[in-house]
Amino acid sequence: MSGLSGRLQNLVTRIARAASDAGRDPVGIRLLAVSKTWPAESVREAAAAGQRAFGENYVQEGVAKVEALADLDLEWHFIGPLQSNKTRPVANSFAWVHSIDRLKIAQRLSEQRDVFLPPLQVCIQVNVSGEASKSGVSPAELPDLARAVAALPRLKLRGLMTIPEPTSDVALQRSRFAMLRQLMEQLRADGLELDTLSMGMSDDLEAAIAEGSTMVRVGTAIFGSRNYAN
Ligand SMILES: *Cc1c(COP(=O)(O)O)cnc(C)c1O
Repeated sequence: MSGLSGRLQNLVTRIARAASDAGRDPVGIRLLAVSKTWPAESVREAAAAGQRAFGENYVQEGVAKVEALADLDLEWHFIGPLQSNKTRPVANSFAWVHSIDRLKIAQRLSEQRDVFLPPLQVCIQVNVSGEASKSGVSPAELPDLARAVAALPRLKLRGLMTIPEPTSDVALQRSRFAMLRQLMEQLRADGLELDTLSMGMSDDLEAAIAEGSTMVRVGTAIFGSRNYAN
């Protein structure tokens, strides 16, 4: 067994244990393998070990990998910051976008999504850490943005995503993830059909699963430490 497939298997076990500790069925938690900075060959290796959903943060790098691996049946998720002049390749190369943080980006993605493709599945990124983090919409601005995004024809709003400030304080991790869950519950009570909480990474996925995560985004625990110089 290669290092990568062993790490992938350990991670599946870790997710199952966290689900069981939380009294949840592990079937309700998807694993998104975050392959940013890793070459297409690493993705191919993870795919051979059974992983199907991959996340990318940078437009050019992500689109190049989608094209290089077009022979495989993979599901690609865009999870990084998105500028409005780079929405077109994302609209048509990816199945999901987790990082919607303003209406203009969502409108462009909806206009640019090819009509022959299924709707682009999207999550709104929420800033649950206040001053400590810059990315994502504030909880106060979320309801209006969610209603507007849900009305766009070529997008399907699935839920919320967050990247809290890194901390080893498990109680703090849980309180941030609990806030995202409560925000989704409020939107559902207001009539939006949402089913996705994209939260939890290599260092905090147990806390995220305890608070209801349905998709954990994991890079380092699968591929190893990233080297941004590559
Ligand atoms: C890089 C990244 C991850 C993965 O983080 P790890 O700590 O390597 O598991 C998850 N989500 C987003 C948005 C990322 O940019």
